[in-house]
This record gives sequence, structure tokens and C-alpha cells, in this order.
Amino acid sequence: MLTSEVENFPGYPQGVEGPDMMVHMRDQAERFGLEVQDRNVEKIDLSERPFGVWSEGEEFRAESLIICTGAEAIWLGAEGEEEQKGRGISTCATCDGAFFREEEVIVVGGGDSAMEEATFLTRFAKKVTIIHRRDVFKASKVMYERAERHEKIEIKAFRQVKKWLSDENGLTGAILEDPRDGTEEEIECTGAFIAIGHKPITSFLEGQIETDDEGYIVHSQNTMTNTPGVFAAGDVVDKRYRQAITAAGMGCQAAIDAERWLEDQG
Ligand code: NAP
Repeated sequence: MLTSEVENFPGYPQGVEGPDMMVHMRDQAERFGLEVQDRNVEKIDLSERPFGVWSEGEEFRAESLIICTGAEAIWLGAEGEEEQKGRGISTCATCDGAFFREEEVIVVGGGDSAMEEATFLTRFAKKVTIIHRRDVFKASKVMYERAERHEKIEIKAFRQVKKWLSDENGLTGAILEDPRDGTEEEIECTGAFIAIGHKPITSFLEGQIETDDEGYIVHSQNTMTNTPGVFAAGDVVDKRYRQAITAAGMGCQAAIDAERWLEDQG
């Protein structure tokens, strides 16, 4: 829902806007009798079957559940960020990188994601500057070095974005601050990619399902979690691929697994 053009979903030769694709998917599923309720789930109880799901004051019961709540990119929260989200500031180079052909962009972060995004962006951008808050990088050596030796990439350590700058056409740059002494400098850019990590949306599970130490749900058999009858799919499980097509594929697997599991229960 938050991405603009999706260019890598099979079957859309001209690409598709993310929200439009979501409408298509919903229409297609509803044609087969799916009922969709747009609600937030606050709590679930997996201690007995049918499982309990509480949402906005109502209780639902289900023999099986598929959890696909996704992961959310972590934003910086710097001044001016909210207005530029989806205009010049993005959290997904794969999704939005191609909009910055021959432009100057920055990538914020010092992990593998930042290195990967920066390297990917060199396909389009004229110049990519990596902004990192210290001079120690969490990125693996190989990914750091690949970025560091790329002629289009400059790495600026000890810099944090203090404020985003923009005009009526969108992002124009940022004020960077050195966390050691507070000195400021301005950088020009028309695109910015924030790569400071993702967090899976699993807090409502309250520890009832096994997750890894970053909170991502762990499959124990095919797409089933450690609780029989509870399945999980998409970015709430996957921290590697994170594409619409890979999430949709895993969703299909989980639906088949859930159906077979229900059949086996008799
Ligand atoms: P990460 O390794 O946790 O790195 C996050 C980076 O963002 C760190 O450098 C951190 O700085 C910085 N950061 C966090 N909060 C910040 C803030 N508020 N302001 C400024 N900077 C901030 O996350 P990731 O790069 O997304 O990687 C996550 C996992 O996926 C890792 O295990 C990684 O290896 C893996 N991954 C692998 C690949 C690959 O192999 N192709 C690609 C992408 C990701 P500090 O260092 O100062 O904390």
C-alpha cells in the first residue's frame, strides 16, 4: 500500500501502482467469496482451538489462522520527513530507485541494507552518498567494500539527518549534524533512502508464537508456525526478499498448507 510503481510483479507488463494492485488482489479474492473486514487486531489467544481473535471490541473464533501482518520499515523521524514520504524519501530502493535517474540521492544507515540499497541505486542515480551516524559499520566487510570502492558512492561517517529540506517540487536536500560536536552541514539531494532496519509486526502475538531474536515468525513445518493450525506468510516471516511477489507466493503456500491441515483434522 505504501509503494508507488511496482515493476517486478509478473503479469503487469506496464508496471502497476502498489495501491491499485492491492485493489485488484482484493477484488479477485472476493470473487471467490472471501469476506474482508478492515480492522485492527489487538489480541489473540492460541491456548485452545478454536483460536480467539479480538478486534475493536469483537471476538472472532477460528480453527486456523494465517498471520501476514508484514514488517514496517523504521523511519528516522527527522524534521520534515512526514511530508516527503513517498515524494522524495523512501525506504525501498528496489521499489523507488528508478525514479531518480541521473539525480543525487542519499542513503541513511550503516548496515547491509544501506550498502545494498546504495549499490543498487548506482544503476540509476548520478551520485549516492551514504550517511552513517558513526564510523563503525554493521555491514558485512564484503558489502561495505563493494560500496566503498564504487565510483558513484561517497560514504560520510559521523553524520545524522537533522532536518529535510524541500521546495514545491519535493525534496532538495538535508541538514546533517555531526553527533560528536553538533556541527552542521547541508547536502543537496532529490532522493533519500532510509535503510536503518525493519521491524516485523508481531507485538500483538505477545510471545505466543515462536519468533527469532529480531521478532520475525519462524516456520516449523512448511509455512506452519510452532502452534499447529497457525500459519504465517510474507514479510512477517521473511527478512531476505521482502518483495510483493515473494510475499504473495508464500501467501499461496500458507493457504494450501492451512487447507490441507484443516482437511487432516477431519
Ligand atoms: P542493521 O544491520 O541493524 O543496520 C541498521 C543500521 O542503521 C545500523 O548501521 C544503525 O547504526 C543504523 N541506524 C539504526 N537506527 C538509526 C537511527 N535512528 N539513525 C541513524 N542510523 C540508525 O539493519 P539492516 O542493514 O537492515 O540489516 C538487517 C539484517 O538483514 C542484517 O542481519 C543484515 O546482514 C541482513 N541483510 C543482508 C543483506 C544481504 O546479505 N544481501 C542485505 C540486507 C540486509 P548503528 O550501527 O550505529 O547502530
